[in-house]
Amino acid sequence: MICPKLIEKRKIEKLSEVPQGGSAPAGTLVEKNAGWRNKRPVLSEEKCIGCFQCYLYCPDGVIRKADKKISIDYDFCKGCGICQKICPVSAIRMEDE
Ligand code: SF4
Ligand code: SF4
Repeated sequence: MICPKLIEKRKIEKLSEVPQGGSAPAGTLVEKNAGWRNKRPVLSEEKCIGCFQCYLYCPDGVIRKADKKISIDYDFCKGCGICQKICPVSAIRMEDE
């Protein structure tokens, strides 16, 4: 859920002003959803080439740039697996919770 105060701050008045797509801007999620995730993405730092495709495609904005690699905020990751699918070098695997 996106923080209502953020929406208020942006003064969104019409639906057409809402950005298209399901992505939430990083840092705007307020409800942790890790409780209902059944798989989690795990990064292999040795394989990661730092292309940041996962960062760009994560629909919840929970992948952060960390130096030349990435970090995943497990509090808000919903386990959709898009990051695993998009990674060109298979540096992310999905593991059972
Ligand atoms: S599993 Fe989905 S929500 Fe979690 S980091 Fe990957 S793309 Fe983002
Ligand atoms: S898509 Fe794969 S290689 Fe690229 S930053 Fe993410 S984990 Fe690393």
